[in-house]
Parts: sequence; structure tokens; C-alpha cells
Amino acid sequence: MSRFLTLAMKKIREGMFSPPQTYTWPPTIYYLPRNYEGEPYNLPLIELETRGCSWTISSGGCTMCNFGGQGADIPETSLILQASFALKAVRNNPYVHLTPIGSFFDEKEMPSKARMKILEIVRESGFVRMMGTEGKAEDISEDKLRMAHEILNEISLDVGVGLESSDPFVRDFIIHKSTRTEHYLNFYRISRDLGVISSSHVLLKPIFLTEKEAIEDAKRSIEWALNNGSSYVILMVMNIRKGYNLASWLWEKGKYRLPMLWSLIKLLLDLDTESLSRTVIGGLTSSETMLLSAKNCDKCTDRVTSLLNMYQYTLDRNYLEEAFEIDCECKSRWEALLHEEAPPLKERVIQYYEYIARNIFSDRWWEENKKWIISEVDEYEGNR
Ligand code: SF4
Ligand SMILES: [Zn+2]
Repeated sequence: MSRFLTLAMKKIREGMFSPPQTYTWPPTIYYLPRNYEGEPYNLPLIELETRGCSWTISSGGCTMCNFGGQGADIPETSLILQASFALKAVRNNPYVHLTPIGSFFDEKEMPSKARMKILEIVRESGFVRMMGTEGKAEDISEDKLRMAHEILNEISLDVGVGLESSDPFVRDFIIHKSTRTEHYLNFYRISRDLGVISSSHVLLKPIFLTEKEAIEDAKRSIEWALNNGSSYVILMVMNIRKGYNLASWLWEKGKYRLPMLWSLIKLLLDLDTESLSRTVIGGLTSSETMLLSAKNCDKCTDRVTSLLNMYQYTLDRNYLEEAFEIDCECKSRWEALLHEEAPPLKERVIQYYEYIARNIFSDRWWEENKKWIISEVDEYEGNR
């Protein structure tokens, strides 16, 4: 775990928990293009406004995430009412994704009484046949998962966790994840034993990585998750959100660039047929907090995005092929990006840490603290 990122993320999050106006109504609902039971489907994604992700509250959270929440406990009755309201708004959709803005299985964020009541409401809705939700793998015990599965009864349960990268160095020193490898493996095992669908979020282009490294890291991570028991993967293409996270902060300063859509398509086309059939795309559509999504150039982005949407609705690989065959001048720029030279990753991480430290703390702070920050990265076991 990077102690420096904990300090930096806490500093960046300052102000996050005193938004100008606290609100819990209405819960956010938006729709994602998906294929459900072989047909195009608009999946309603319901985000319950909670106190926020506990990892963000305790340690600043992950470098790309905005799930701050209210920072104060939200009464259980409010959580239950939000879920019940949202289910009315998406009535007649057989597949719904209903998640708090952090972890559905975190007792502080979603006390078990509220969690059980919400699951009962879903069961009693009469129209839901499949429910998706999300949580941190370390929060998901066998008992909690069994109970959720049992309450839902005939309704399929799909639980997603944020893997982001299968590389512990990337997770610890770049993304600042709280979850350890053994937590993911345990989650895949108990999900499989209970008949719960498990999904893993994999991030395309965390901060600090080059375009080429990002493609390779995401591909390795997808294969790792699928080979280790994840039912499927949600490939989260990085986007830029309003303030309060390190990715947005670096982007504002010209120190981070989103991946090009060519990278996304190339990565998907490089997967074998089995892996591709178990990978869906996320991050191109989001709630109103998204400022910018991944793009190519102005000439081809609309066309490429339409084909990617068609792919998401149909899972027909031909749409990916068609998109990749589009002849646009920005493709040579992308190819050049793939050959971009960069210092070795550990060295680069330290360079970024120095830039961040000097800007959010001070030059003096960096000089006084650099010794332990550098040795923390250098002493990480594993060749980078
Ligand atoms: S990605 Fe998940 S664990 Fe990380 S800060 Fe966001 S909600 Fe919390
Ligand atoms: Zn283009």
C-alpha cells in the first residue's frame, strides 16, 4: 500500500464531504447499453446516495474514483426509501443494477438491516429477474452473500468488485486499492459455490501508465480475472469526472490523458473468443458527474462510438472490426502513442509522486519526506 497516495488522496478529497448542498433525493438513475438474454437492453443503473465509500472516508480512496458521498451517516429508512423509489422509476425492467456509491456489503455504508430490506423490496417488486450490485471484495463474506442470495430467492444475483488491475504494484502504488489478491480469489470462490454471478471491474488506462502499458495491463487483468473464477469482466474505460480525484487533478494539469478508443477496440479484438464473450464495456456512459469520456479525433469519434454502442447492444464482433477498419488520420497518432518512450514504471511513479507532492503539499514537504516515499516504491518486491 502506498502511504504517499493515502496522504495525497486525503488532501485531494478535502472539501468533498462538505458539498454546498447535501442531497439524497432522487437517487441517481442512468441507463447502460447492454445485451440481456440475447437482445439489446438498456440496463438501469441505480446509485443510492449513502454516506460514501468507507475506503474514501478512511484513506482517501482510489485515484480515479469520485464516490465520496455525504460523509455522514444516512438513516436506514432513507436508504430503503431511495431503493423503493428507484425501483418504481424503473418498473418492468427485468434486469436492474442497484448499488450504493461504495460497497453494498459494507456495514457502515449499508447496514445489514437496510441491505436485507432492500433485497426484499427487489424480490417483492414482481418484475426483477436479475439484480446486479457492487462491493469491495473484502466486505463480502460467505454469510452475507448467502443471505443476499437466499433473500432474492429465484432472482439471479450479480455482484461486481473493483479489481482494476491484476498487478499488485499497479493496484497499490497507482490506483490505491484497499483490496488484496486473496480477497478477490476468496470472493470468486464463494460466489461460484453459492451460484452467484461474479464480475470484476478492470480499468483501461490508470494514471501514470502509457497507452501501450495500459492495453497490456488491462488484457492481462481480464485474463487473470476470468482464469481465476470471475464470471465476467466489466472493462471500465477511464473517464474524467468533476474534481476530487487524482486522475481529474492530473488531467487538469496536462499530466494525464484518457485512452483513445482505438486502444479499447484493439484490446477487445486481441482477446480470444471466449474471453471477449465474457467482457462488457463500461465507462463510456455515466452519470452527470462525468466531464469527458475516451475519444478519438473529432472526425471519427461519433462513428466509432456508435459502432461501440452497437457492439454493446449486440455483442457482434463485426461492429468492432468495422470500427477498427475506419481509416482516419488520428490512427497514426495512436500508433505513435504505442511507441511512446517512458522511464521504467517505478522511476515514473516516483517522478509523478514528486510532482504531486510539490504541488499539493510544498517543495519543502517533498524534500523532508522524499526518502521514505522513494524507498517505499523502490522496496516494493517484484520487478517493475
Ligand atoms: S473504486 Fe470503489 S473502493 Fe475505490 S474509492 Fe471508489 S467506491 Fe471506493
Ligand atoms: Zn479520427
